[in-house]
Order: sequence, then C-alpha cells, then structure tokens
Amino acid sequence: MTSINSELIIDPKIFRNNILFLKNKLSNSSKFMAVIKSDAYGHHIEHIVKDIEDLSDGFGVVRIDEALKIRELSNKKILLMQGVYSKEDLDISIKNKFDLVVHNPDQFQIIKEGNYYEGLWLKLNTGMNRLGFDIDTFLRIYEEYLFDKKFTLMTHLAASNDVSNPSNENQFKIFEDISSKLNNSIERSIANTGCIMNYPNKTYDWVRCGIGIYGGYIGNHELKTAMTLRSPIVNIRNISKGDKVGYDGRAVATKDMKIASVYLGYADGLPVTIKDDTPVMINDQMAYVFGRVSMDLTTIDVSNIEKCSAGDWCEFFSPELPITNIATSNDLISYYLMTSVKSRVKKVYKTLD
Ligand SMILES: *Cc1c(COP(=O)(O)O)cnc(C)c1O
Repeated sequence: MTSINSELIIDPKIFRNNILFLKNKLSNSSKFMAVIKSDAYGHHIEHIVKDIEDLSDGFGVVRIDEALKIRELSNKKILLMQGVYSKEDLDISIKNKFDLVVHNPDQFQIIKEGNYYEGLWLKLNTGMNRLGFDIDTFLRIYEEYLFDKKFTLMTHLAASNDVSNPSNENQFKIFEDISSKLNNSIERSIANTGCIMNYPNKTYDWVRCGIGIYGGYIGNHELKTAMTLRSPIVNIRNISKGDKVGYDGRAVATKDMKIASVYLGYADGLPVTIKDDTPVMINDQMAYVFGRVSMDLTTIDVSNIEKCSAGDWCEFFSPELPITNIATSNDLISYYLMTSVKSRVKKVYKTLD
C-alpha cells in the first residue's frame, strides 16, 4: 500500500552550524547548554543528542522522562529545568546525576530533606513572575543552608529578544546585585538565545540556548530553519473572479485564479489562524495561502505558478523559507509552530555525513 503524507524533514547539519554561530558570540569561559525540552522543540530529542553532543556542555529539559532518555545517550550534564516535585523525582535525579533547578521553597524542602546539594541551580524571580524565588526568600535560604555550597544562580529573561524593553536592564541589575553578595564559588546563568544575540556580555558561566539552535530566532538571517514542513498538492482547480474558497468563504477571488489544495491542515499542526497571503513555496516559486486552513487541507493560490500539478510539494517553512517569516506574518512565534506539528506527519531525520 502506498499512501501520501505530509513530511517534517529535519537536518542536523543546520543545528550544528547554528550552534557554531551562537558559540562564537560567547565569552571563552561560558559553557553551552543546549535546551532540548519538548522533544527538542519538536525536532526529536534522541537524534539531536547524538548529533550535537560534541558541541554541547550540557542539555536542558523540563520533563524527567526526557532527562532519562538523554541519560541513556550521554554522560554530559543534564539540567532538569523545572526541578523536582516529589521525593521520587529526587531519587531518580540523584541516581542519574541530573542537575536540578530549585525554583521555590517547596522544592527546596525536598532537597533539604534529601540532604542533596550537588548540581543545584537556584532560580531567582527577577521580574518575570512565573517561577523563581523572591529575593528575600532566596537570601534567607542562602544564609542558612547554602552559604558554603557550590551552586549555580540563574534567572530567566522575559523579553531578551527586544532590546528596547527596559525589563532586561532591570532583570540584569537585580541578578547582579544578588550575585555580588554570594560566595565566590557560585556560577551564574541568565542567557537564552535572545540574550546571547543581544547581550553577549551577559553570557556568564552557562548559556541555556534553545530556539537559536533550531533557527527560530527572529532578527538574524545566519541562523537557519532546521525543519522543513512540506505536503503534496492533491488537487488543482480553476476558479472565476468572485468565487469563494474554503470555509466561511473567507477568500474571495479578485480575478480568475488557480487554486491548489494541499494535503495538510490544522490536524497536522498548521494553525487554523494562518492568514491569506502567507507565502509558501512550490517548485521553488512563491505561492500564497488562500482561504482558511481546514482540518486536513490548505488551499493555495498558485495562479502565478505555470507548472504545478498534483503530487508537487508545497513547503510551509524550510531552510530557504524561514519559519520566522510565517510566524511573524501570522502573529505567532516560531517556538509554537515547531512544537505544533502532529504525530501523523511523517518525520524524516537526515543523517550527518
Ligand atoms: C526554554 C528555556 C530556555 C531557552 O530559551 P530560548 O529562547 O529557546 O533560547 C532557557 N532557559 C529556560 C529556563 C527555559 O525554560
């Protein structure tokens, strides 16, 4: 039986080039943690660990099952970025030598009861107000339990991609004030991709880099999109001026047009909110979304493409068609598009050679 399907093609050479580009921005003493949470932002965690291990000093994930998968493949540092939520989590972490973020007093209680102080990353809230200790609480815990311990002090920036946002300087200042009060053996970590790109003097001891590896960072053209989402055309029809296409007749033909229906819809992970005129690529030429994305199909204006037929591929993003374009033109973020692709899409992971 042959059946057509959409494909997600992942090219690990691109991760490697992106990492080399990013590492070039770091100070010599900064170590590179590859953030590969959520199945490496949808790129397949086991493959990526094998293909970038030599370029990374550690791996960051959120879920403990992902940390366990990585431990089977690598002896490098693995940071559980939301820490442990039970004694059982702690036992697994000790056994597998995971580094642990500790972000609130409940988590510190688990650590204290386990009397386990190896590889801790104490997370401060410096303004994002999501996770992290309040400054006073952190200082109290530090003075009582951590003053003679080696650990990493960390925080997370809320708007590192936007240098005009004053929250960055505020967060740096709070972080630096606190860290200047601590013992000299502590390491520091603030930088995600946006911070590496925009504040390369703040890379400290560890950077925690995610989206840049995958090429989803907006505002830089040297970081390439590592995934290609493509789907075959299954039908082509001609329509007349005034005809409507798709649900609710959102798209109305302003002239006689040629419309391709492509075998991919929101059930494959293309958001239903994708707007008309979003560019896609067919046979190396630009074409444009025309009509609302359906569950299993998307309609494309191919009036300007002379030669195209059923079976030709339509690319929604690729190394040549940056995922950041479709994200920005649709008020989305590339993180969301990357992690939205559903399991029924065929994954093709290229080999390094
Ligand atoms: C996801 C995450 C990162 C990586 O951020 P990018 O913007 O993808 O580089 C870094 N630190 C923490 C705590 C994270 O959750």
